[in-house]
Amino acid sequence: MSDATRVLVLNSGSSSVKYQLIDMAWGSPRPEAGGGARLASGIVERIGEGQGRIKHEPARHAPRERYESFPDHAGALAAVADELAADGLGLDSPRLAAIGHRTVHGGTRFTEPTLITDEVVEELRELIPLAPLHNPANITGIEVARKLRPDLPQVAVFDTAFHAGMPEYAARYAIDRAVADAHQVRRYGFHGTSHQYVSRRTAQLLGKDPEAVNVIVLHLGNGASASAVAGGRCVDTSMGLTPLEGLVMGTRSGDLDPAVVFHLHRVGGMSIDEIDTLLNRRSGLLGLCGDNDMREIGRRMAEGDDAARLAFDIYIHRLRKYIGGYYAVMGRVDAIAFTAGVGENSAAVREAALAGMEPLGIELDSVRNAVRGSSPRLISSDASRVQVAVVPTDEELEIAQQTFSVVRRSEGVMHGKTWNAPNELER
Ligand code: AMP
Repeated sequence: MSDATRVLVLNSGSSSVKYQLIDMAWGSPRPEAGGGARLASGIVERIGEGQGRIKHEPARHAPRERYESFPDHAGALAAVADELAADGLGLDSPRLAAIGHRTVHGGTRFTEPTLITDEVVEELRELIPLAPLHNPANITGIEVARKLRPDLPQVAVFDTAFHAGMPEYAARYAIDRAVADAHQVRRYGFHGTSHQYVSRRTAQLLGKDPEAVNVIVLHLGNGASASAVAGGRCVDTSMGLTPLEGLVMGTRSGDLDPAVVFHLHRVGGMSIDEIDTLLNRRSGLLGLCGDNDMREIGRRMAEGDDAARLAFDIYIHRLRKYIGGYYAVMGRVDAIAFTAGVGENSAAVREAALAGMEPLGIELDSVRNAVRGSSPRLISSDASRVQVAVVPTDEELEIAQQTFSVVRRSEGVMHGKTWNAPNELER
């Protein structure tokens, strides 16, 4: 096996690039076991907006920050390369195996992590109408990185891919089939790398094979989504054609009657773009109480603030409906896993989400729930039939593992060898 075991993970947004350099040979005795240790991470912000900022956090040195102008993504990636080189982790190192790109929308075309070629980039462009906010930035990141290291394998890992195997009855909206198909209108789901990572990590925490457990994953961050994962496969998820459907989020409404849109347009006189902005950026917790940070909402509730209380109650009510729905969909639930900023940190949200569910075999242990920590842990009582877990998500590690697995598989094909991908082994 070659000693190229590092993967650079890039998450390119319209004005930012987040990155992590992960060595797959560390953190586990064998890279095949799906380990991986972070060598450095960071973010470049305000690309193309005058004064920008790069914050670089190497694992073995003190974090650094500098302010300068990054006119475009090429400039941003050059700055990332400089910072990594200063730590002896340059992108020209023969130890760099691949670059993995977080890619938001794979449509129905991309259901697996995919080695990037010119044709793949063209096909990604065709998917832009499905994700006009995200995919263009992802494509720019891919193009810039390919120019920087044209010889290096680059892999697109899709936010939608884990949900691509959902049964048709969960993926299809109940609208005219011909219209839906003509415009690729269906439920794709997002946060897939997180749901995949957390469901598998939860099975591991239970000491079980992912194929043997049914898990409800609650990814509660600023964006939020739930998924039902039965035997390692996603059978339903709360986000749909776009990340707007489902749970109440920081600034997104989640589910509503689609006729709200017609009403706001016809009666409220709002344009489609204005409604888009309203539902995606000025709704959810922010729209309900003026704050989208759950910490601030908790503080205001403690002071008796009614708007904050109502926002919290609406958020929790929606969450409970999804938990109940996914319980019914799967019939048997072995575990419920909380993840992302709110899910990992808010004991109050976890408690309210599951309160009174003892008849369903779900019982929290309030002491365990109150303990803070950064590793996966169980917070259910010993009597609880359904295990409840807090499992910190790690989308970058998942992307690195999937990227590395694609590269190793293609090397195996090139050399006539077979190689077991990490996800076929013990992760
Ligand atoms: P994410 O999108 O996963 O980064 O999550 C961001 C959100 O996590 C923030 O908007 C906060 O509302 C929430 N959050 C972070 N820390 C805490 C905490 N200690 N308690 C409650 N919510 C938190």
